[in-house]
Amino acid sequence: MKAAFFEAPGLANLKVGDFLDPRPGPGEVLVRVKYFGINPVDIMTIEGFIRAQPMPHVPGAEFVGVVEDVGLGVSGFAKGDPVVVYNRLYCGSCRYCLTGETQLCTSGGIIGIAANGGFAEYVAVPAKNLVKVGGDLLKFVGLPVGGLTAYNMLRRTGVQTGDVVAVVGATGNVGVFAVQLAKRAGAYVIAISRKGAERLRELGADEVLAPEDAAKRWGNAVDVVVDPVGASTFELSLKLLARGGRYVTAGALTGGEVEVDLRRLYGAQLSLVGSTGGRRADLEVLVRLVERGAVSTPIYRLVKGLDGLGQAIEAFRDPGRIGKVAVEV
Ligand SMILES: [Zn+2]
Repeated sequence: MKAAFFEAPGLANLKVGDFLDPRPGPGEVLVRVKYFGINPVDIMTIEGFIRAQPMPHVPGAEFVGVVEDVGLGVSGFAKGDPVVVYNRLYCGSCRYCLTGETQLCTSGGIIGIAANGGFAEYVAVPAKNLVKVGGDLLKFVGLPVGGLTAYNMLRRTGVQTGDVVAVVGATGNVGVFAVQLAKRAGAYVIAISRKGAERLRELGADEVLAPEDAAKRWGNAVDVVVDPVGASTFELSLKLLARGGRYVTAGALTGGEVEVDLRRLYGAQLSLVGSTGGRRADLEVLVRLVERGAVSTPIYRLVKGLDGLGQAIEAFRDPGRIGKVAVEV
């Protein structure tokens, strides 16, 4: 099959060419990839900041497609079924899996890092990672990484009707879903961004503000700050929090070291919350939301063909990007 892969870390080492055809083992399904999304986690994997296996390695943590073949013992899937792939490998029997927190599985890993991923024509994945979907597959392409990460951040902070929610990095892969989901949850949504105001309002933002304006207007007044950006926005995020406010992080794209004044933390009863990926069960919820038209993947650029991967990565790094860059395989 054709795939994008690397034998040594570094974007320059990523090549598109022939790769060993994957076969579905027992309990696995062979998926023919239709679309994949580009995310920071893929770039970090290719660049070697995250150690990938096996080598040579096919990255790609976010992809959708159709069932091509099923392995021994698999029922409930047939050739041609359109599916979204949950990207966390999970055992199903550890204490985390048993409480539904499959993203914390003690023997887990991420497809595209701990196993070959979706920058390819075919991927073999455990059948229990698949969710069948109805409708245009492209609408689902951002769910496995961006959508699920945003969903889990809102779940972890208990966002509810009437909350004021600020989304930092609102035009990013996670941000565009956090805005949509917070709005659907009944929150008043402040998207913090210097670009894409019109698009963010379409997605559900009640206000779109540049960081400095947000600090002036909403200092000490926000119930939940969703911040997938990291160290560069941490100070702003904390400034925004009202008494009893909750801050949630799911990434450290701009650095992971921050300073916290414990006096403010306890005095205002703030919560600093961590979140990683999301639960297997919640991907089903997201799929149903997309099927009902309540949520969708905002597409910034769709590149045709694996050979366009370089273009796609360039578009992903475009400072004007709003939402998802995807490749049609
Ligand atoms: Zn487990």
